[in-house]
Amino acid sequence: MNGATTSGELRAHNRVRLLRAVHDCGAARTRSQLTRDLHLARGTASVLVAGLVEDGLLHEEPAPEHTRGRPTQVPGPHPYGPVALAVDVREDAWELAACELGGRVTVLEVRPHDGTPQGALGTLGAAIATHGRRLGHRVIGVGVALAGPVRHGDLVDIAHLGWRAVDVPALLTAPSPGGDVAPEGLGAPVVGNDTALAALAEARRGRLQGVGVGLHLHVDFDLGGVLVVDGRPVAGAGGTGAEFGHMPLTGGDRLCPCGAVGCWGMDVGANALLRQVGLAYGGGRGREQAEHVLATSPESVEATARALGRGIAALVNAHDPEVVTLSGHGVQLWERAGRALLEAYEPGLMAIRRDRPPRIEGSALGWRGSLLGAMESVFDAFLTTEGLELWRKSHPDQGRDTPEQQSVTHSTLEG
Ligand SMILES: [Zn+2]
Repeated sequence: MNGATTSGELRAHNRVRLLRAVHDCGAARTRSQLTRDLHLARGTASVLVAGLVEDGLLHEEPAPEHTRGRPTQVPGPHPYGPVALAVDVREDAWELAACELGGRVTVLEVRPHDGTPQGALGTLGAAIATHGRRLGHRVIGVGVALAGPVRHGDLVDIAHLGWRAVDVPALLTAPSPGGDVAPEGLGAPVVGNDTALAALAEARRGRLQGVGVGLHLHVDFDLGGVLVVDGRPVAGAGGTGAEFGHMPLTGGDRLCPCGAVGCWGMDVGANALLRQVGLAYGGGRGREQAEHVLATSPESVEATARALGRGIAALVNAHDPEVVTLSGHGVQLWERAGRALLEAYEPGLMAIRRDRPPRIEGSALGWRGSLLGAMESVFDAFLTTEGLELWRKSHPDQGRDTPEQQSVTHSTLEG
């Protein structure tokens, strides 16, 4: 039951379904395929697509590999259509991108930061304001991934950087010293944990698609993990659920910056790699050195992979997932030291799990998951009857060709 009772409500509901299908398939399916997927009559689909084209939400191109029968079209993003601004804020840098319906990403800026809330979020807020003004009414929202737990109310703690209850939306929307203010209509940013967002992206576009119960682990300076049930990361009661990295799964006794002792994340990630070769670590510094360790120190890579495998076994015993996916440095650890990882993983499994242990896979999205998840959080709010109605009301002339170019392809790639 969709709750639509009148023909107008049914049409609004089908507009959402069609746009959602175009978005989720990466704008890669033809109108005929979408018509079948959604069990629509051909005439209904034609009318729906025409309306969405007129509203500046869709644009159709001929299918590239058309061989026989009636020519068919592929619905994709409109050249002046909605854009989600998505950001991945890591401990040492941020990346800002414009994302269109279907998931096409154009990186706008990459900037290092000093690790302070003001240093990281001040420059980012100014960049969002600048690009928001340039893209104008195309921007439907801002999604931000952060490397720490996000409490309800968007307060963020990043223990490695000493962030406690940082009000991220307030800092992002504060006027910058240069006076760059975000344009009206941009709205408050949607803030989420990087691991949970990477897991969401994996469920939508990666190796957790169609998986009932999956476990996703994202490795950067340390690691985060979250259970994904029916495509949704389990957020926890207070919104801070993606914190498997702060469980004592490897028997260590080091004090973690989070305040707990023996956290798994102390043994997995860039910080652990740096520590193993005797280099300074912590504070979101040393990414390049850690990459060097990954490339040149097989002993350190294997020790880290073993710690990863041991913790995965404990979580598999607890949660019984179908598949375990790894993103960030997790992909490199799996590719370079998969054998060491499995040697620690398999003995850690309960006997009843060993006949058919859940498979472990590197993410299909690599380092892009958190950014893509931030994009999905924006489109999830937009692809609703209310979101589309708001767009239609604020874009009354969208169907007409306008000479002013606002294409995201005019953006620059920095850093
Ligand atoms: Zn911890």
